[in-house]
Amino acid sequence: MRIGILSIQGDVREHERMFQRLGLESARIRQPEDLVDLSGLVIPGGESTTIGMLMQEYGLIDAIKEKTRSGHFPIWGTCAGLILLAKEVLGPSPARLGLVDMTADRNAWGRQVSSFEADIAIAALGSPPYPGVFIRAPRIKRLGQEVTALASYQDQVVMAESGPYLVTAFHPELTDDLRVHQYFAQKVETYWRG
Ligand code: GLN
Repeated sequence: MRIGILSIQGDVREHERMFQRLGLESARIRQPEDLVDLSGLVIPGGESTTIGMLMQEYGLIDAIKEKTRSGHFPIWGTCAGLILLAKEVLGPSPARLGLVDMTADRNAWGRQVSSFEADIAIAALGSPPYPGVFIRAPRIKRLGQEVTALASYQDQVVMAESGPYLVTAFHPELTDDLRVHQYFAQKVETYWRG
């Protein structure tokens, strides 16, 4: 089992370190060829416009979509990664995968509190609550019927999943808490074992 980390821009090393701590192999993904033999993919936080534009330029949007056609290729998007997975984005929208039926509103937590930390209750992870790090995070404005909310903060969904796809508006890679990485790794393993 090999988990890829899209390595165009953003929190690549931070994700790598988390998987390392879990004893899992990860691979840096920069071009379509890197997707061979991959069991799952993480799209890190960063700047969605930049990441989307370069993904398009490198042919990664088509290549990743092709890979998901089997319905067995888990992808987890954190923050900018969430935006790149959203089917709809309000306002100027970046080139993206659009695999999850939801609407994302970029930088929508307002200027004053655009970056903050908050304890998030995530039933799937048990207690204690998870330390959510939000950095100019998107809000999820609409969730499609097939998308399940996994956690909310101030009545806004901040973590959700849809089949093989997982999205978090916050940044688990910037904490010491391995539980979301473990959750995704379990999802990858389930699909990998078929
Ligand atoms: N605000 C960024 C965007 O719109 C996302 C920020 C992040 O990933 N921390 O892409």
